Amino acid sequence: MICRVCDSANLEPVIDLGEQPWCNNFLKKEDVGKEPYYPLRVLFCHDCHTSQLDFTVKKEVMFGDHTYLSGVTKSLSQHFRNIAQEVDRRFFAQKRNKAVLDIGSNDGTQLKHFQSLGYDVVGVESSKTTARIANDAGVPTVNTFFNEEAMKEIGRQFDVFNAAGVFFHLEELHSVCRAIKLGLKPEGVFVVQFLYMRNIMSNLAFDQIYHEHLLYYTLETIEVLLNRHGLSMFDAYLAPIHGGSIIGFVGHQGSYQPSARLVELREQEDTSGCNTIAAYREFDLRIKRMKQENLDYLHSARATGKRVYGFGAPVKGNTMLNYFGAGPSLIEYLVEKNQLRRGLYSPGMHIPLLIEDEVNHPPDIYYVLAWNFKDEILKNNQGLIDQGVEFYFPVNPKFST
Ligand SMILES: [Zn+2]
Repeated sequence: MICRVCDSANLEPVIDLGEQPWCNNFLKKEDVGKEPYYPLRVLFCHDCHTSQLDFTVKKEVMFGDHTYLSGVTKSLSQHFRNIAQEVDRRFFAQKRNKAVLDIGSNDGTQLKHFQSLGYDVVGVESSKTTARIANDAGVPTVNTFFNEEAMKEIGRQFDVFNAAGVFFHLEELHSVCRAIKLGLKPEGVFVVQFLYMRNIMSNLAFDQIYHEHLLYYTLETIEVLLNRHGLSMFDAYLAPIHGGSIIGFVGHQGSYQPSARLVELREQEDTSGCNTIAAYREFDLRIKRMKQENLDYLHSARATGKRVYGFGAPVKGNTMLNYFGAGPSLIEYLVEKNQLRRGLYSPGMHIPLLIEDEVNHPPDIYYVLAWNFKDEILKNNQGLIDQGVEFYFPVNPKFST
């Protein structure tokens, strides 16, 4: 294996979560037990410090027809509106005829916010179903994988590129970077949003490790990648999305000066030591401890006759359930709001999903797999909490949405 970012062969395994099915593959009843398993292992590159999976589940398998809808989540939609407003206000408020391309545009939630600010929008989305939903909603969306070839096909330049939560997915990492370099106007801004590995470590959010996330970035490591392609980050800040994401602003090299807060974030990162192999070894030990603590908790809940349901069926929840080996004997159902998942089962553990409207009686405990929405969940479920339903958070993010 060579490093996905810098081509080095100097990689070392640091975290092994065993063989796991592809975590977004929620199963129909007739497919339960037939899902393939793949290794889920993180390697650390001694040269560029990027942590990454060594095994790639083909992008056509993972992103050909996924059922994740960003518009379903209110706090995400608000975040997307804030991003559109921020980009416009800071960089393009005076400009006319402005255009944005969203990579992995999903159901078009982000682009709708740009449309309302007067942008010409193009979405690129690999999932057939979500691309169709976006087009039906009036967001022009090309149903393909974004890469150099797709960019040439689109054949024009954009003021803004957006990639929210897609940059760590990329099997064709360098082709995508070349495409952005090619399609970005000279003063254009590429907004890259990614899970921040430093926060994944400090939150102990190891469930963010799954086959779709091929790479785990810090500022240092994403900058290695961008610089390789003549792009550079000039501003960044930390947002509470997914328990800690970086919102980075990237331009052509030399087109913008680095901001003071970017320089400060880089320094904090350096001081934290998160780009060292020692940090990964420590993370690995903490993950193993967490597994034991959570299994103890679930077993003792069941031993005292309590009913436990999972709250949310996020793809990352499957990393946790499969690594813990927590199946229906510990967690009876996963309760989810995404209608596209009605009647399905979780991959690996085969826990049946219930859509919110199918829950007649609440359980004693909600084991919250969608922990990144902690604030929203606690607020929306105050009635249940008052009735004595416990909300258990296996991961407690330092900040959430
Ligand atoms: Zn490397």
